[in-house]
Amino acid sequence: MCYFDDGDNEDFALKGCLQSPAYTKIARLYEDVMKKIPEEEKSEIHRKNIVAILADKTNSYCCPVYFPQRGREITDLIEVNLIIFSPQIVKRTKPSAIYTIAHELAHAFLGHGITGGSMDMLREREIEADQQVIKWGFEKELKADPDNYIYGNGLENTFG
Ligand SMILES: [Zn+2]
Repeated sequence: MCYFDDGDNEDFALKGCLQSPAYTKIARLYEDVMKKIPEEEKSEIHRKNIVAILADKTNSYCCPVYFPQRGREITDLIEVNLIIFSPQIVKRTKPSAIYTIAHELAHAFLGHGITGGSMDMLREREIEADQQVIKWGFEKELKADPDNYIYGNGLENTFG
């Protein structure tokens, strides 16, 4: 496991592409994003057990997985949120990369699951995630990315 040195983010693990310049950049940008999020909401994010993975040739996603806890009720599940980042996000502008990180974190924060999603619900979740991004103070970064879901092409790109 590769945990951050930074005490604030000690439960954030970034995996994959360890030797790449993208790893360092994304790890740093993640810290920048976390710094702007209010303490209380940051604790909520920490409770989401985020594991971020850099994986080439993919878009960025957030996807929760649930594990039963030993000795507890079978329904008492631990939630782990896998966030997949494309290393390519650092090739875009810095605001755009920051927006992407904040957007995926917002999905984890808002508890967006993957099951039972109608198209309308999935669209709604993308907008909700972007609304959260704005609440956290990243409106400028969001607007700098033409593929955002509120003002940009995000919905059309994803849902046609
Ligand atoms: Zn999204």
